[in-house]
Amino acid sequence: MSKNYDVIVIGGGPAGYVAAIRAAQLGQNTAVVDNFIYKGEPSLGGTCLNVGCIPSKALLDSSEQYHRVTHRLSAHGIKAKDVELDVKEMIKRKDKVVNELTGGIAQLLKANKIDWLQGHGKLLDNKQVQVTRHKGEQETYQAENIILAPGSLPIEIDAAPLDERIVDSAGALEFDEVPKRLGVIGAGVIGLEMGSVWSRLGSKVILLEALDEFLPAVDQRVAKSALTEFKNQGLDIRFGARVTNTKTAKNVTVHYEDKDGKQSIQVDKLVVCVGRRPATNDLFSEDANLLLDERGFVNVDDYCRTNLPGVYAIGDVVRGPMLAHKGSEEGVMVAEIIAGGNGHMNYETVPWVIYTHPEIAWVGRTEQSLKSAGVPYKTGTFNLSASGRARAMEDMAGMVKVIAHAETDRILGVHIVGPQASELIAEAVVAMEFHASAEDLARIIHAHPTLSEAVHEAALSVSKRAIHKAN
Ligand code: FAD
Ligand code: NAD
Repeated sequence: MSKNYDVIVIGGGPAGYVAAIRAAQLGQNTAVVDNFIYKGEPSLGGTCLNVGCIPSKALLDSSEQYHRVTHRLSAHGIKAKDVELDVKEMIKRKDKVVNELTGGIAQLLKANKIDWLQGHGKLLDNKQVQVTRHKGEQETYQAENIILAPGSLPIEIDAAPLDERIVDSAGALEFDEVPKRLGVIGAGVIGLEMGSVWSRLGSKVILLEALDEFLPAVDQRVAKSALTEFKNQGLDIRFGARVTNTKTAKNVTVHYEDKDGKQSIQVDKLVVCVGRRPATNDLFSEDANLLLDERGFVNVDDYCRTNLPGVYAIGDVVRGPMLAHKGSEEGVMVAEIIAGGNGHMNYETVPWVIYTHPEIAWVGRTEQSLKSAGVPYKTGTFNLSASGRARAMEDMAGMVKVIAHAETDRILGVHIVGPQASELIAEAVVAMEFHASAEDLARIIHAHPTLSEAVHEAALSVSKRAIHKAN
């Protein structure tokens, strides 16, 4: 038996490392076990920092800059000639961003006196954790409390096994040249973000989506508005498309079926992004008796407690949206519970963002979910075409929609499609966290000219008194 800890966290992603830092702040002697290897080196930060949120946003930002210069500056009276694209340099910058941030997490663990145990962690019975180091040696540790935060992995499909041309989301962050034609299986969050990156850089992108509906979890009016924009940008999204098989040679032939029968496309690269699954492989021994739910996630209650006393699970490996900030907040909650405090997590106010252009962001309920639940509601909308700031920016596509309870006026959901929606949604999250009514939001002064005035106008529009539109 090696050392004892108050808390051992398995997984050093945004759920695990945040839980560890909060636990250490609260005086717990803490260790993080993490097995991630990034370009040959152990690296903290999990999927999010190494191959997820951060590198995808780095490339979204770079590709947005390129697209702006090549397509959008002329409207401002700026002519840019001989613009060159250096994809290798772009990927190098992305790697630098990743390395700086993951290195920062290592520093934070050190500063908080948290041990980083590099290797694979496995929950044994009686609150023990076996760590298999990258070179193979094994150690067993004992902890008062254990937090499982192993995250998730991409789902693979038999019709498109990964190879040198068929890649998952991590592979789509590493192309060293712009594929002339890019196929994407799944028009979900990753498909839209990675499809946008390569489309902006010049790829002809075709997305094959199994469902007939676009982004079913998003408010459908907002989804429709976004779909129109994406089509205008040249993203070719084909619905009701079921991929039957693929063949890789000099390029990839993708066979699929839709309502018109058998179809096929040829692409240079194919990205498979059809969802993610909980990373429970070799996470616990049989005699640990950890309970999974019917979908294979670690079974937890509202406080992220598993069926085993003193064992918690957080982040992508448990129910709820697979989002970094959701996992981090669960980590804070669990660390506070372990230290004898009252952990708190409000699943009703987890914001979502899809970092396309325009961005899509929302919090709370959609109109379609309220309708099917029979909840009475009223809505207010405001189009960015009427926003002075959006016009000044020459970026008018999009809208804000506020949904409030028909009787109490309490805000039930806010949905935004437009530039900087990722930042605008924060106001709605605060409002909902404080149980604000649409009237509260309508009475708050918003600076002029800002995009946030569109949120204000949409809130005013709930009671049909928006100023800059006919109600
Ligand atoms: P992870 O980040 O997956 O971390 C788990 C860590 O545990 C990993 O390092 C893993 O190797 C390690 N591990 C697993 N099992 C073991 C074990 N047995 N022993 C030791 N270590 C183990 N979310 C957002 O909120 N915003 C975004 O913009 C966003 N963009 C994304 C873009 C892409 C391309 C992808 C793929 C995901 C994106 N996500 C985004 C989702 C986000 O990455 C996840 O929700 C988040 O990383 C989950 O955090 P986690 O800590 O639960 O797991
Ligand atoms: P997703 O669930 O968002 O989208 C997957 C899409 O693939 C769905 O539309 C689904 O209908 C479709 N699909 C499933 N099987 C298919 C098949 N066989 N053929 C064609 N289409 C198929 O999943 P994702 O895009 O892989 O992303 C995984 C998760 O990662 C997201 O749900 C999200 O939680 C997280 N993520 C978040 C962000 C963000 O916050 N901006 C960015 C990327 C990823």
